[in-house]
Amino acid sequence: MLQCNCSIFGDEQTREAIVVDPGDNIANILAVLKRHQLHVKAIVITHAHIDHIGGAEKLKVATGAPVYMNANDQPLYDGLDEQAQWLGMEPPSRTTIDVDAKEGETLHLGSAQFLVLDTPGHTQGSISLWIPEENKLVAGDTLFRDSIGRTDLPGGDSRKILRSIHTKLLTLPETVTVIPGHGANTTIGREKERNPFLQG
Ligand SMILES: [Zn+2]
Repeated sequence: MLQCNCSIFGDEQTREAIVVDPGDNIANILAVLKRHQLHVKAIVITHAHIDHIGGAEKLKVATGAPVYMNANDQPLYDGLDEQAQWLGMEPPSRTTIDVDAKEGETLHLGSAQFLVLDTPGHTQGSISLWIPEENKLVAGDTLFRDSIGRTDLPGGDSRKILRSIHTKLLTLPETVTVIPGHGANTTIGREKERNPFLQG
């Protein structure tokens, strides 16, 4: 319903996978995993908004994989029922977070490393995943094509999000493909040049 992008990264050799932001539609995610014969080694949550984390419990039960989320978003996750209420949705069941995903934390998938970057601002515990071997960045709701994450929800901070983007994301190579939490992919170079929120 909320059109969140869920990313599934799979390694062709080890058949291991990392799933980022399973908001909902867990049956679809499991079907993709089955089709590619992948087993999930980690579930990573970029931030604790319901459209990104709503399906984490179901996916964890189905796969046994640990859930990674930044501890600064725990209060938001504790308020998941409230988030559901605002949207008029059934509250999804909650799970426990297994690993505090903070800067310095690295996940491995085959020969690729997934580096956690702290990018607070959209929420206090928002993270991005930088995958140098793949030249890809999973940006959650921090950076979008032509836009940035909203900061008017609880925990949002407009100065922090700009600082995060300028110091952590725009310093990456311009050729990096950015996979945002909503909408189309972009690149660091394109957003540096054209994103109206990042000029001046
Ligand atoms: Zn969000």
